[in-house]
Amino acid sequence: MNEARRIPRSEWQLSIDQREKNAKISRRDAQHNQECHLCGRKMSKKASENALRVHMSVDGDLIETSAEVSDSQGFFPVGSECAKKLPVGFVRKPFRREV
Ligand SMILES: [Zn+2]
Repeated sequence: MNEARRIPRSEWQLSIDQREKNAKISRRDAQHNQECHLCGRKMSKKASENALRVHMSVDGDLIETSAEVSDSQGFFPVGSECAKKLPVGFVRKPFRREV
């Protein structure tokens, strides 16, 4: 059950500074009220609804999306650029009814 592949938070998390820079880049559009969970870039509500998801543990590690683990915090939207950098199995499409 707990043998799922993980990416520790220390390996994916950007510095606070870099996240703030990213958020500012896209802050001009007031509709951009959601953000990529990994880099902080803003995205529109619609984009975030359709965005790929990562599976996050309560400690902030990324978990294989297919894994069922006891410390899951749930699924969070990520931008397409960040999704591309993750290994196969660490992103998935949003559930139909998930908003
Ligand atoms: Zn991102």
